[in-house]
Amino acid sequence: MTATTLLRTQLLIDGRLVDAASGETFETVSPATNRTIGVVAKAGAEDVNRAVAAARRAFDDGRWSGMAPVERSKRMRKVAELLRERVDELARIETLNCGKIIVESRADVLNAAACFDYYANLTGQVWGEQIPMNAPLLDYTVREPIGVCGQIIPWNFPILMAAWKLGPALATGNTIVLKPASNTPITAVLLGQICQEAGIPDGVLNVLTGPGASIGAVLCEHPDVDKIAFTGETETGRTISRQAAGTIKKVSLELGGKSPNIVFPDADIDEAVNGSLFAVFTNAGQRCTARTRLFLHESIHDRFMADFVAKTAKIRIGDPLDWETQMGPVISRTQCDRVLSYVQRAREGGADLAHGGRKVTDDPFDDGNYLMPTVFDHVRNDMTIAQEEVFGPVLAVIPFKDDSEVVAMANNTIFGLAATIWTNDVKRAHRTAAAIRAGNVSINFPTVNPPEAPFGGYKQSGVGRELSRHAMDLYTQVKNVVVNLNPTPFDWYGNWPAPPK
Ligand code: NAD
Repeated sequence: MTATTLLRTQLLIDGRLVDAASGETFETVSPATNRTIGVVAKAGAEDVNRAVAAARRAFDDGRWSGMAPVERSKRMRKVAELLRERVDELARIETLNCGKIIVESRADVLNAAACFDYYANLTGQVWGEQIPMNAPLLDYTVREPIGVCGQIIPWNFPILMAAWKLGPALATGNTIVLKPASNTPITAVLLGQICQEAGIPDGVLNVLTGPGASIGAVLCEHPDVDKIAFTGETETGRTISRQAAGTIKKVSLELGGKSPNIVFPDADIDEAVNGSLFAVFTNAGQRCTARTRLFLHESIHDRFMADFVAKTAKIRIGDPLDWETQMGPVISRTQCDRVLSYVQRAREGGADLAHGGRKVTDDPFDDGNYLMPTVFDHVRNDMTIAQEEVFGPVLAVIPFKDDSEVVAMANNTIFGLAATIWTNDVKRAHRTAAAIRAGNVSINFPTVNPPEAPFGGYKQSGVGRELSRHAMDLYTQVKNVVVNLNPTPFDWYGNWPAPPK
């Protein structure tokens, strides 16, 4: 694996890079080698208090929300420009820290830039409404920023998830304390520095690195934080909702998934095979929207599987920094073990292992967290492998007989994040899309989340919609203003009405 010098990062509080108040640090490793690649400041409760106080001041004095929208837009666009200028460096660090293949890391940095550009366009488009009244009253609404937002993000798309959160929060004039996942802290701090360089004022964006269970909890419970936006596991989402309940914070949640991928017999099978590979195995399966349940109509099952398994076997596993590599390691040893325990359970439960199912142990991969892409056939939808989020390169294939059966099985899950439908029958495509209980449905396309389209989950996959104009609502609140236009002075007790006759 490629050698690298140790990266060092600090906290970003009130526009300055500082050590943790305790002076503590922690090491961050590369999933490809499990060797240390960086030393990172470990924030504690005191640092959360400092960051929240800085964000509070920056919000209350209006240095950002009071800035002309066109000026805020200019600075956000500058962030996008700097991200694009530094794409190679940032993509490399992202790959080193989260094990994502370099092709995907590069796309993530460019998509993060696109997200800043998209929201830079919307800074001037935070509109209220004027509401007609019978009485001589003028009534209008204004959308105002929520205030200090705590944003907590996961390790699977570190810089992109940060951009998804920061874009709409900044466009609407909020101030922020961002907490990246402890496994992947580095690019969030670099993005914070880029925001400073682009002219986002001191204190508007603060970045804290450290453990979720301690500093994340302090952030969620902090009385001066007005909103928590979280992306991560459904179980953590439950904890965060409880933590935020004490101070009735606004909470938006982007959580886990177990998304269905349905191939009808009239589909273009070659395209469906290729799309299904992408839908489940990109980012080594560590996508919340990974289509991890593949429903195949029984009439095309054998043909589809022969091609799908052959192509799975050809996916090139290797050093994620190598441009030719198509699948890198999973995030950690713990995650590797967790995925393998699901594999074990599926085998014991009677699922047919069609490919993979083990760690890659050849030299030099044994030190890293490499798993073979894994395919289980003839899975039942009630098996653990078809119900729980594995978060690794593992697919459960479930045969079906007819449309109503497959829709019932697709919906039989606590999650509702995404779904894919492969068919050339336009009526069937839209009928099935309507019947699926999920926030994002793609037809004859594996999965895509551009900034223009809303993203979020039904059921236990989340609360609220990120991206698109909908995310502007997540970061604003509505104020109603009523104005008395009546020339007669208001006097409730003096002008007491006569009783009805
Ligand atoms: P995680 O829930 O373990 O951690 C997410 C973040 O929460 C991290 O920053 C972590 O430090 C922090 N955290 C942990 N405990 C906390 C607590 N008690 N209080 C406050 N913060 C706490 O998730 P992960 O393992 O980093 O990421 C994988 C998960 O994220 C998967 O379930 C995946 O489906 C989900 N995900 C969802 C989306 C989406 O948009 N729906 C996108 C990406 C990932």
